[in-house]
Amino acid sequence: MSQVINDDRLYIAGTYNRFPVEIEKGEGSVVYSPDGKRYIDMGTGIGVTAFGIADKEWQKAVTAQLGLVQHTSNLYYTKPCVDLARLLCEKSGMKKIFFANSGAEANEGAIKAARKYAAEKKGEDYYTIVTLVNSFHGRTVTTLAATGQEHYHQLFKPLTDGFVHTPANDISSLESTVKANKVAAIMIECIQGEGGVLALDEDFVKAVADICGKEDILLIVDEVQTGNGRTGKMYAYMNYGITPDIVTTAKGLGGGLPIGAVMLGEKVQNVYGFGDHGSTFGGNPVCCAGAVSIISRIDDKLLDEVNQKSKYIFDRLNSAKGAQSVSGMGLMIGIKTTKPAGDVVKKCMEKGVLCLTAKDKVRLLPALNIPQNILEEAINVIISVCEE
Ligand SMILES: *Cc1c(COP(=O)(O)O)cnc(C)c1O
Repeated sequence: MSQVINDDRLYIAGTYNRFPVEIEKGEGSVVYSPDGKRYIDMGTGIGVTAFGIADKEWQKAVTAQLGLVQHTSNLYYTKPCVDLARLLCEKSGMKKIFFANSGAEANEGAIKAARKYAAEKKGEDYYTIVTLVNSFHGRTVTTLAATGQEHYHQLFKPLTDGFVHTPANDISSLESTVKANKVAAIMIECIQGEGGVLALDEDFVKAVADICGKEDILLIVDEVQTGNGRTGKMYAYMNYGITPDIVTTAKGLGGGLPIGAVMLGEKVQNVYGFGDHGSTFGGNPVCCAGAVSIISRIDDKLLDEVNQKSKYIFDRLNSAKGAQSVSGMGLMIGIKTTKPAGDVVKKCMEKGVLCLTAKDKVRLLPALNIPQNILEEAINVIISVCEE
């Protein structure tokens, strides 16, 4: 066992069941361990390094900002922060941005905004947030309450009050849940990521948006994993032809640095006033400069490439023995394999391809700009492992 792995086991809290691989460096979609072993990165640190490892343009943007100022607090203005907010509004149609540092924190911000809106508009008893069974919204005590998977809740109760869960793709259950509660917001992932890379039905998503519109309930779309080009559109909700009131995002936004965003639509753009919410690190200029470099490069050309590579992966896997079904959108892909997903991931790792799991699926979240030849090499390995 290496010194790093040994010391990690001694000094790092035991929350992560890591693979026995140390990653030292990389370039684009390839990473290396200290012994020189090469791996193709089909997980991008869980959908984070959107343009790959040590991406040159991103590095330039980040290091330039590091040479100027690394942090100011939110008592002062900085250009990267406002540049990023403008870009996000232009690309999403949302009106105002609150910056946080992670996905869970972005969701916390969305929940606070929704509760304040409903309290002022309908009364303080309208605080319930409806989320879906099998959803994942984060690990804080409130976003755990939002997460519709009981196994994450055990031993951490009592969680924050005012969350109810309804099954995905069941419109009549949704309607009765909304009737039975005083609802501030409905929060969904258009593609449940941690839940197994399951895209919601279009009819269901449209019904959610309809109910929200009719009842003046806020529609929050959690795009922490699906956002920023991952599904072949800028945001996954754009695949469904709906307009959310609040969109949250994080993971791929910063290209590898921690940043989250709450994007506020028309109705809620002014819900936050001075002192209602805040974050010491939120809107950090280095993270924002990195994110500007990422977001400004997600254009129609890149999204076309994402969709082409997606089609390539679906076509190859759909005809592969040992792959029972393929789910997801864009470069967010789940594979139901005949062998247990964990065994496939372990075998792929031995053969130099890093993949993820989500529930019983093998999950792929490659870089948005993964070169076609490297993608083909990785898919060949994955298919050979599935067919073995
Ligand atoms: C990863 C994830 C989160 C939590 O993000 P953190 O940055 O780990 O707090 C929330 N929602 C979804 C959909 C996610 O995939």
